[in-house]
Amino acid sequence: MPQMKLRIAIQKSGRLHEDSIKLLKECGIDINNGVNKLKTEATNFPLEVFFLRDDDIPQYVEDGVADLGIVGENVVLEKNRPLRTVEKLGFGKCRLAMAVPKSMEYSSIRDLQGQRIATSYPVIVNDFLRKLDIQAEIHEISGSVEIAPGIGLADAICDLVSSGSTLFMNGLKEVETVLRSEAVLVSNDKLSPGQQQLLAKLQFRIQAVKKAKNNKYVLLNAPNDKLPEIIGLLPGMKSPTVLPLAEEGWSSVHSVLNENDFWDIIENLKAAGAQGILVVPIEKMVV
Ligand code: ATP
Ligand code: ZN
Repeated sequence: MPQMKLRIAIQKSGRLHEDSIKLLKECGIDINNGVNKLKTEATNFPLEVFFLRDDDIPQYVEDGVADLGIVGENVVLEKNRPLRTVEKLGFGKCRLAMAVPKSMEYSSIRDLQGQRIATSYPVIVNDFLRKLDIQAEIHEISGSVEIAPGIGLADAICDLVSSGSTLFMNGLKEVETVLRSEAVLVSNDKLSPGQQQLLAKLQFRIQAVKKAKNNKYVLLNAPNDKLPEIIGLLPGMKSPTVLPLAEEGWSSVHSVLNENDFWDIIENLKAAGAQGILVVPIEKMVV
């Protein structure tokens, strides 16, 4: 019987490499990440890690050379392989955007009708344009897409952006968002029951790490007569923990706040009489 383990493909170097390793570490999986290694074995989880170019990851997972992969949704969609997205990972966020020279008058996607568009994502761009019934000439180029209009190769480009500064520096303006993307964990459908159990274990840990990142642990002091109002402001996992302070008439209140409504709630807590508010990061969160 073959040894039961999972094999995961992650980017060898580039934008997703560090965060992929970090995620595994935060899941309590120790891997030694030697430079120029092709693969490595986790020391405390049955996991083998392959380091590959991101473009190759969908194919390796589809073929079953790896069981899992961490790769951008943009690559998954472009490669168009029958993979299962197990979990969105919350890093590697970017968008695939259409951009045109700043000088071009652009009012709608119709303005791209009959134009030449340079991109490394012909499958996604074709699909996007087809749905909008726009016919354009797609020029596939593999890198430095942003220089294409400047050298007369294309009228527009479709490329990945996060801040947009590269576009701006190349005299381009962003006009359409074609896709929003982040890193995802993908798998194939060839996992044995034992491997599926391992994947469930890994996924459980990933979810705990993700939840923890989106939440903060908040401790504050409150005069007892303000407690009902303050407790009313706190969502918490169940209800907040309330402990008496050494000082008569005061309590310490502990709760968990979501990152999204964090600042609003903190302001309201202060206004309601909370003092000495401490905000602490959470490492793992299992609910
Ligand atoms: P490889 O050598 O593995 O082929 P690459 O040059 O194709 O690497 P990177 O530039 O490292 O790829 O980007 C990897 C992924 O990071 C992208 O596919 C995308 O999902 C994500 N990403 C996040 N922000 C950006 C950005 N601003 N530009 C490009 N990719 C981004
Ligand atoms: Zn690549």
